[in-house]
Amino acid sequence: MNKVVCIDGPAGSGKSTTAHAVSERLGILFVDSGALYRIMTRECLRAGVDTSDPAAVAAFCKGVRVDFVVKGGRVAYEVGGEEPGDTIRTPEINAHVSPVSAVPEVRAIVTGWLREMPRLGDIVVEGRDIGSVVYPDSPYRFYLDCDPDERARRRQREDATKGFVQTEEQVKASLLARDRIDSSRKTAPLKVPEGAIRIDTTHLSVDGVVDAIASRLGR
Ligand code: C5P
Repeated sequence: MNKVVCIDGPAGSGKSTTAHAVSERLGILFVDSGALYRIMTRECLRAGVDTSDPAAVAAFCKGVRVDFVVKGGRVAYEVGGEEPGDTIRTPEINAHVSPVSAVPEVRAIVTGWLREMPRLGDIVVEGRDIGSVVYPDSPYRFYLDCDPDERARRRQREDATKGFVQTEEQVKASLLARDRIDSSRKTAPLKVPEGAIRIDTTHLSVDGVVDAIASRLGR
């Protein structure tokens, strides 16, 4: 079985930046699990599905088709032959993704997809339940944490580069609202996976976090 490096943590904790850097340093494929929940959410919104109705979301999401393609060191997702890009990173998707991802049937579909990915090679996967539910037996499980103000600062800067301009307070409120739903849902809540290595990234550079992860893998 190929290696699976799991990186979980709350929104804005540095998972994505870290997972990209680990992918590059170790030459393994980057997998963004949150993007799959975001795609489900975008498709629901486009089809006019009420995201606060779990039965409607579950019925609709069964029919969503995503193709997985290895591209430039990552597993890319295509819907109807196109990558979603920043269309899944809007404030509107941010506001709807947590209720969609709380639907057990949606989680079952995405978890099934994620469990197929090691066929493509060694992978580093970032998410909320990767080390706790999707790959609980992986020896490489990490949980990143960070002070909420610092998380909001990082995410606000990142969003601004994509053209989504909001105040730090607005970004913080959105992050904390998602954390609340993600941590309190019944199926696969966000939590520190048992036995995972917890890293507080508040005062660490990306290189510092990647060093800690790479050394665990003996690299
Ligand atoms: O990582 P990102 O912020 O893009 O994730 C968007 C949302 O997808 C999260 O707020 C959470 O609701 C959901 N998610 C999840 N489980 C994962 C990854 C993301 O529930 N493994």
